[in-house]
Amino acid sequence: MKKRFLLSSAAVGVLSTFFAYFLVSDSDVHAQTSARSINKTASVKTTNENSSRFTHAAARNLRLRSSLQWAFGGKTQIGWNIYVPLISHTIGTDNRPDTAEFAFAVSKWQENRGLTATGIVDRETLESFTKYWQSRRLGRAGLSSADSLITAPIAEFWDPSRSPDLLQLERQTYAAYKRMIAAAAAELGSDPTSGKFLRIISSYRSPAYQEALRKREPNAGRAALAKNSPHSTGHALDIYVGGEPVKTEDSNRLLQVQTPAYKWMVKNAERFGFYPYFYEPWHWEYVPGRVDR
Ligand SMILES: [Zn+2]
Repeated sequence: MKKRFLLSSAAVGVLSTFFAYFLVSDSDVHAQTSARSINKTASVKTTNENSSRFTHAAARNLRLRSSLQWAFGGKTQIGWNIYVPLISHTIGTDNRPDTAEFAFAVSKWQENRGLTATGIVDRETLESFTKYWQSRRLGRAGLSSADSLITAPIAEFWDPSRSPDLLQLERQTYAAYKRMIAAAAAELGSDPTSGKFLRIISSYRSPAYQEALRKREPNAGRAALAKNSPHSTGHALDIYVGGEPVKTEDSNRLLQVQTPAYKWMVKNAERFGFYPYFYEPWHWEYVPGRVDR
């Protein structure tokens, strides 16, 4: 009876997936020998301790997601609200970041990365995410000899008045982009480019054009300022995901990461060889056949 009581009180907890891992079915419980039911009681106790641990972690995450101080690009950053879709995808959960389920999934990531499995997205854990995301990017600048540029139709671009010499991108990247847009249309159940969503803002940028951009817009985002821009490969695309197309202000990025277009990209772009630059929701890089480093 005591065992049953413990089981049902555990079931009141919120970690349903966690429990599924630990609990055996009712008939199995009846079949237990007394020795094994002692083990069972012990594991239920562990489950309860974990449940309270992750409830506590969830409360910490609720605060840290809008208050954690960390540094990126020579700037102090506040919180990780903007990166919730990417974090959720990376740790494989659809649960909200203020839930014990989310904290549990974070703890599994931490375990795999050799970090203390607290379930809390603290500075160290957030940096383990950004390091992982950055490791999946192109990692080079400039055209390689195998790259060939083609010119895409102006209709694919966010700005209908974009200069004809700024419509180039690498051939395979364009083919993959077209496949991705077709899939988005089928899966989002509407024309994904209505409202210009998922249209190309910027693609190949020659070193000369990049230099002109640097001079013209000294206050532009880091990518626009970069000397060795991934856009010089023809494999990087800025894709419209909402709001101001390429403004790095937190409020703009927070708006962008909540659009269906961005959320779809986070979950599906990899299937087509596209990987995100976490800091710029619009910037995606085509890295086909990449393997995790
Ligand atoms: Zn870009």
